[in-house]
Amino acid sequence: MSDAIETMEFQAEVGRLLRLMAHSVYSEKEIFLRELISNASDACDRLRYAALSDQALLEGQPDFAIHVRVDKPNRRLIVSDNGIGMNRDELVKYLGSIAKSGAADFLATLEAAGEKNAHVIGQFGIGFYSTFMVADTVEVLTRKAGEDQAWLWKSDGEGSYTIEAAEKAGHGADVILTMKEDEAEFLEPFRLRGIIKSYSDHIPIPVHLADTPDAPGEQANAGRALWTLAKSEATDEQHKEFYAHVGGVGDGPWRAIHWRAEGTLEYAGLLYLPSAQPFNLFNPERRNPVKLYVRRVFITDEAEELLPGYLRFLVGVIDSEDLPLNVSREMLQRNAVLRQIRNGVVRRVLREIEDGAKADAEGYARFWENFGAVLKEGVYEDHANRDALLKICRFKSTAGEGLVSLEDYVGRMKPGQEAIYFIAGDAGRNLASSPQMEGFAAKGVEVLLLSDPVDDFWPSVVGEFDGKPIRSVTQGGADLDAIEAADGDKPEAEQADIGPLIAQFKLALGDAVKDIRVSKRLTESPVCLVADDGDMDLHLARMLRQHGEAVPDSARIMELNAGHALVRALADGLKGADASAAAGEYAHVLLDHARIAAGELPADPALYSKRVANLLTKGL
Ligand code: ADP
Repeated sequence: MSDAIETMEFQAEVGRLLRLMAHSVYSEKEIFLRELISNASDACDRLRYAALSDQALLEGQPDFAIHVRVDKPNRRLIVSDNGIGMNRDELVKYLGSIAKSGAADFLATLEAAGEKNAHVIGQFGIGFYSTFMVADTVEVLTRKAGEDQAWLWKSDGEGSYTIEAAEKAGHGADVILTMKEDEAEFLEPFRLRGIIKSYSDHIPIPVHLADTPDAPGEQANAGRALWTLAKSEATDEQHKEFYAHVGGVGDGPWRAIHWRAEGTLEYAGLLYLPSAQPFNLFNPERRNPVKLYVRRVFITDEAEELLPGYLRFLVGVIDSEDLPLNVSREMLQRNAVLRQIRNGVVRRVLREIEDGAKADAEGYARFWENFGAVLKEGVYEDHANRDALLKICRFKSTAGEGLVSLEDYVGRMKPGQEAIYFIAGDAGRNLASSPQMEGFAAKGVEVLLLSDPVDDFWPSVVGEFDGKPIRSVTQGGADLDAIEAADGDKPEAEQADIGPLIAQFKLALGDAVKDIRVSKRLTESPVCLVADDGDMDLHLARMLRQHGEAVPDSARIMELNAGHALVRALADGLKGADASAAAGEYAHVLLDHARIAAGELPADPALYSKRVANLLTKGL
């Protein structure tokens, strides 16, 4: 059976990716070499790790190297490594399918974007399959370290590939590209040297380039891990190159965080704040992709304990001097040293983000667009770093177009204003025009407009910033009286005595509301709903209800605007015992009216429209 050639279909997603790549205008075709060298370097890293517990895997070759060889007469380019290699199952799994979670959804988005997807496809990390941009056929001859059987994988990128048993002396992989007719530039050593220099100079493995298949060649990259350089030695170009290697994306970082911790713990950190959102940022299976090294030896890129979930957008390397080299991935889960490293890294990253926000407000606004919702998870979860996180939070607000910080907000609070106010709601809604906002707008009080799902949760656990309570405008009594009116604020409308009307409404609505009271927050609308202090905020209740949770309506308070013409007319007109039936109709219509203004449906839409039709008819 082992001498048979098996033909296998690519997983559907691979076919789609290959088609996308063929049709997206990929101006930088040369990145295929970066991808191959990056994979080769990872394969060496992984064997080095595996050999820590099983020296024999090295088969007497302790030095890792990558070779790029040109075979011009046959139009072939060969990239070889002596890394871990792949067995048959791994070839099928890794080179026949896309293992990344969420890939299918992302590909669908890319396909829908048509021509415009060219710059986003890079964020996906196109990896090994990018070779088909330049090669007619791609062969992978590989033997897994520690196994005897080698395998040859072969494809022209047209929907299927073949696998057959093969011979290979050393462990590792040779990736053999037969170049397309018009891609001969990638067979020129001069051109290849330039590509290696600019894209792979600082991966931690030497890359040798030879102009014939048999020559030993010359080292073409510096081969020194970038994070071992002093911060001042590393250039922006080098960061961009290394970021592409560790992050698998080509967009360049917004900022690099490069430091060396010395003292009780020693480690080097080289982390990047990305400039674009990875496609699977909100996929629950996404892990932080930061690589953990111990004294220059790669250990894992699955050390979940290295960073909290709310920093899962970081890419880069942490290289510890203190962890034992033989630390297993399981041991990491309970390792005190790793926990200390994590604390130090989090503090450092948050401080650097704060500095970055100060130094480059525009860049930070873009960064916040991409990662703010994730950082706010930290506000909710990470009590110890809450203050640092709140400092870097930015919000939309009624103060204007741009984003504001809580410090900005507090600095602008009106005389007499005690709290920081916000409204939470769906991103699509115009939150600023909610009825509950009217009194705040009339008094010129700034309100933060929050529309990420996580915004329903963090304000109540945080409670305050800088000693000022953080309050929802749709919750509790709006204590606007204490806030001084300024020139330009709207004068308050004359208030009618609506006590008897409220009593009638309470009778009619019964349990449908928790209470009915005179509003201090309405100036334009007749009615709105709010939540009581200590109850769940309106938007959160609505969201939970949409997800099928039982949240009683009765938790809400109906507020009436005693200065509104309708409310005043009702208070005037609905006097006496015979008015109670009419009062009931109005009460129900106004309650549904408030629901609609909040973006909900009436309790019984058909009954609501019947009631409104009746009232309109009577009005004629
Ligand atoms: P990525 O590198 O982002 O995972 P690729 O498509 O480039 O995606 O590679 C897919 C997988 O194939 C790698 O994760 C790795 O497991 C395997 N692979 C690729 N090249 C090599 C190699 N030279 N040696 C061993 N395994 C490799």
